Amino acid sequence: MRRFFIEEIKERGNTCIISGAEAKHITRVLRMGRRDRFILMDGKGARFQAVIDSAGRQEVLVTLEKPLPAPPHSPVDITLCQSLLKSRPMDFVIQKTSELGVDHIFPFSSERTVTRLDDNRSANRVRHWREIARSATKQSDRVTPAEIVPLSSLMNLTGQWKKKDALKVILWEEEDSKDLKGLLRASSPAKHFIGIVGPEGGFSREEVEIVNEAGFISVSMGRRILRAETAAITMVAIVQYEWGDLSLNEK
Ligand code: SAH
Repeated sequence: MRRFFIEEIKERGNTCIISGAEAKHITRVLRMGRRDRFILMDGKGARFQAVIDSAGRQEVLVTLEKPLPAPPHSPVDITLCQSLLKSRPMDFVIQKTSELGVDHIFPFSSERTVTRLDDNRSANRVRHWREIARSATKQSDRVTPAEIVPLSSLMNLTGQWKKKDALKVILWEEEDSKDLKGLLRASSPAKHFIGIVGPEGGFSREEVEIVNEAGFISVSMGRRILRAETAAITMVAIVQYEWGDLSLNEK
């Protein structure tokens, strides 16, 4: 069944009016009409099976037939800190990690970040990423979109996590003694995982050292050097596989 998002599901009896972009999408793009059913979500956890009563150009009137239970959250809350990439790979990371159930994305700039954004462009870009996260949420039947936090710097980021129950790592292709797989299998599952991934040109050794001092463990994901976007997506998939819900038997 198709899924649609609205800011707030205002029930009047058991009916609800959908307006704006979603209404347009339902009637003009998808040409849905009376008696068609879909899932209506508000991005905060409310979900209903809805059926269209009338579909106008501006407004779609629906009956909320029944509330639907939200799928359970993964046992691990995943934060991805991603150094700003060029526009397409960055969009790709947001979309794919959202599908994989990342909870928070912190974009940041670091020494070798090639893309620079002024405040204005940065705000626009965050809006654009939030839209991508929202579409991915619909597509993948998540309950809430990943939180996309405004752009920061590597040094500002690392200081803010003092959470006891978090495993914090930085992916570093030059690390030659610890790997992500081994670390996850040797640790008992934490409630939060926070992973930092570098830009196209990687991190400098000094950056890695400073981040290590803030409690982040450097880990490798094998001897192949992955593109940053591949590294980010792989990291989230591995964490969901080992500790999370990339299976039917959630812990
Ligand atoms: N400095 C490298 C490439 C950086 S790859 C060069 O130009 O040769 C971009 C980012 O992906 C890295 O900063 C790191 O966070 C991650 N990454 C890529 N391959 C990795 C691997 N095998 N192990 C751990 N992290 C990796």
